[in-house]
Amino acid sequence: MVSLLAKSPFPDYEASAVTGFCGNSLDRDALKRPDRAWFDAQWARADAACLIFCADRPVLDVTGARPKADLPASRAADFGTDMQTTVFLGMQEGKPLFAALAGTDDAAIEAMGPYKLIDLRSLARQGVMTPPELGALAQGRSLSHWHDRHRFCANCGAPTRIAEAGYRRDCDACGAKHFPRTDPVAIWLTLSEGHVLLGRSGRFADSMYSCLAGFIEPGETIEDAVRRENFEESGVRIGRVAYHASQPWPFPASLMVGCYAEALTSEIQMDDEELVDCRWFSRDEVAAMLAGSHPEGKTVPPDMSIAYRLIRDYVEAGW
Ligand SMILES: [Zn+2]
Repeated sequence: MVSLLAKSPFPDYEASAVTGFCGNSLDRDALKRPDRAWFDAQWARADAACLIFCADRPVLDVTGARPKADLPASRAADFGTDMQTTVFLGMQEGKPLFAALAGTDDAAIEAMGPYKLIDLRSLARQGVMTPPELGALAQGRSLSHWHDRHRFCANCGAPTRIAEAGYRRDCDACGAKHFPRTDPVAIWLTLSEGHVLLGRSGRFADSMYSCLAGFIEPGETIEDAVRRENFEESGVRIGRVAYHASQPWPFPASLMVGCYAEALTSEIQMDDEELVDCRWFSRDEVAAMLAGSHPEGKTVPPDMSIAYRLIRDYVEAGW
């Protein structure tokens, strides 16, 4: 049997560049991170900006026609931010951009001025931010969450302090150095001749079906994780797996690794703790779901998601 995945139909196309949170255009200037004097000088610049997070939501200035997340760094202290959780994200058109955690609550922030707190999923779906803004917000959100949860050393319990412009936390008591984590999650579209396997989680909107997904475990390749998870969730065995696209997923710090997977078997034995439905869909049916014209009203995830990208590119590829 000739593999469906033997040759990519997308030779000049980088699917990772077009999903939500993928448009980060910051120059991270990582080589400058050890230089504290350089950090302080950037923070003091009149054109420095800062994304302020209140738990998982950014503070948005809603004065203008479009919400604005990059607030003047000189105003950060008004939100009760602290330099122990203030991170340099990168240079945006020559201007430094930082992220920091607010020390006050939602109500106090919304009472301070024309500010609103909106979660990143809603911002990505509403299309009110540009791709570079969403990319920077994803980076800021993941890093801010990590700082918030790593104020104390996992090795000895002593307080940690920020280092490397926010890309490390050091413990002075035991000398441990802690680095921000990124958690890889495999997400894949399982293919059989003319059909794909989609599932429904109980958390989804009633009509929506999506690709299967699961955390990649320690000691596992991406391909092995896809084969294991697909079998656990659907009972379908997988052979070949091919990478297609990735997406930063700041909830709180995942990297979605999107693949296509070739089914070796077709019988479904669904894990009913993970899924409420799992079935094969024909290419025509999936095309109708993408177009919003499925006769039973079934849908796929929104176009900012990597699941949408995997499904759409499958239909376009004509596998
Ligand atoms: Zn320690």
